[in-house]
Amino acid sequence: MKKKIFLATTFFLIIVSLFTYYKSTLKIKETFKEQENIFLKKQYYLPQNLDRYIHYYSTHPEVSIEDIIAIVNVNKDKRPYQDIKKANINKGILTLINKYNYLDENYAPKDMIIIDPAYAYAQKQTLKEVNEAFINMYNDALKDGISFYVVSAYRSYNYQKQLYAKYLINYGEIYTEDISARPGYSEHQSGLALDILSEKVPMAKFQITKAYKWLKKNSYKYGFILRYPEGKSYLTCYNFEPWHYRYIGVKDAQKVYEENLTFDEYYAYYLDN
Ligand SMILES: [Zn+2]
Repeated sequence: MKKKIFLATTFFLIIVSLFTYYKSTLKIKETFKEQENIFLKKQYYLPQNLDRYIHYYSTHPEVSIEDIIAIVNVNKDKRPYQDIKKANINKGILTLINKYNYLDENYAPKDMIIIDPAYAYAQKQTLKEVNEAFINMYNDALKDGISFYVVSAYRSYNYQKQLYAKYLINYGEIYTEDISARPGYSEHQSGLALDILSEKVPMAKFQITKAYKWLKKNSYKYGFILRYPEGKSYLTCYNFEPWHYRYIGVKDAQKVYEENLTFDEYYAYYLDN
């Protein structure tokens, strides 16, 4: 008799625990489904990032869903330089170079030319296509009474190495990381980036110039985008740089401008396939 009671109790307990287990897995699935639905219908949702969205959401409940999607899409849920890969240079003028995508030490673009000194400070090199786009932009700006010139264009790996080292000494590590790329991680090494300033205006004041306002509004028409916009450091990993323009061609520059995206977001959603 005792044995029968014992068996019945054991059996009952097994059933109860199985049921509890089943209920809890069901609950996890439900929660996952609920969380999936939060992200699913949002713009720029990428299905392969769902687990990372949910994880970020659980650890940063204060961040908006749109921002979580943007942050994860550009890999900012990982630390800069943490999960790096070689930049896909097969993308040509659309190659993404940032703190997660680097260029080889020996990489230098082909077909570079020297920018006519009328448009640049000292001898600066860039790609022919970029040079032509810049000159068109320059001439149209001039018609509006605006002038600017190139202060930095192509920079080799070694030049960037020296520059970064100099910043480290002058500013220390934290500030340097906000304003400068480590060697191999600079867009300037691709020949596709131009730093543009107005004459006699220091870098720090460029953002209040008419030239900056003009470039911000019009540069996309010539294939350039403001690469490190104000208020987007949490995605670009760089402080606002009103002088730094990246050439990506007119068609894509127009889309980046109209959708108000950083190139990192645009690349993740439209080009990374
Ligand atoms: Zn720059």
